[in-house]
Amino acid sequence: MPIDLELLHSKLEDLKNKYQNLTYLDTDPICFPKQYKDPLDIEVVSLIACLYAYGNVKSIQGFLKPIFATLGPSPYQTLKESGNSFHSFLKDLNVYRFQTKKDNQVFFQTLARVVGETKQKSPLMESLFLGPNGEFKDTVSFQKFQSFWEEELKKTTGKKPLSYGLQFLIGKSTSKSPKKRLSLFLRWMVRTSYPDFGIYKKIKPNQIPFPLDVHIQKLIQILGITNRKSFGSKEAYLIKDFFLKIKPDDPLLYDFYLTRVGIIEKCKAEYQKRVCENCYLKEVCLVVPRGIEPRLQG
Ligand code: SF4
Repeated sequence: MPIDLELLHSKLEDLKNKYQNLTYLDTDPICFPKQYKDPLDIEVVSLIACLYAYGNVKSIQGFLKPIFATLGPSPYQTLKESGNSFHSFLKDLNVYRFQTKKDNQVFFQTLARVVGETKQKSPLMESLFLGPNGEFKDTVSFQKFQSFWEEELKKTTGKKPLSYGLQFLIGKSTSKSPKKRLSLFLRWMVRTSYPDFGIYKKIKPNQIPFPLDVHIQKLIQILGITNRKSFGSKEAYLIKDFFLKIKPDDPLLYDFYLTRVGIIEKCKAEYQKRVCENCYLKEVCLVVPRGIEPRLQG
């Protein structure tokens, strides 16, 4: 059955109106860069928060909170200066899921060196995605960014190949995965409206692939947006193209709000009476038996 785009659009707007509220930011890793005003801090903190944004919200926050508390009021300056406080920060780093303590030390040492060596002011890293004429070119741009970090990490370790944890952290430049964490980073950096920062000006919001985490993959299936069973970088662009039909200039507008359905409403992508009857997407969701009363307002 073809999707009723008008109905879907109106339900997505309802979802946006509900979650476009600062109180919901704590449920997302974007809460970390939101604590800073300087674009240099926002960019550096965003990269760290996005790269470690895998696993559940609780474990991501449990790992990142002490990191940003220790990096002080300006993580950018702390990394750039690499003084005594940074060295004790390195010593106290913990393991995080696939990253050993050593992996995390190598990553932060590398980030500090790159930040220290980068001459230009904000934005620090947009150019790492761009081609020789300043163009952003889909997967090529992601590969360019990842290759840069692969090389920089190797400079720190002096070893080849990278450990599993470091390779996972930055992602493989040659992989055809959806590159969800880097897409999320670009969403934060490029989109100008809530909750994102709009720091990058050369890359446009309609060029970024949709950040496809596991829940979004299930959600777009049950909304009838795709019937694909596996998700790679190609699908991330296809889903972005779908949302271009609803928001031609800003196809990632609803990403933050859609992810709240899993994180806050505890959607399991299957019919659960208690959850689904209160869901704003109920009328457009394929797993809901028809004939259920519309959502109660208020
Ligand atoms: S109606 Fe239920 S299954 Fe469908 S999106 Fe909402 S919570 Fe998820």
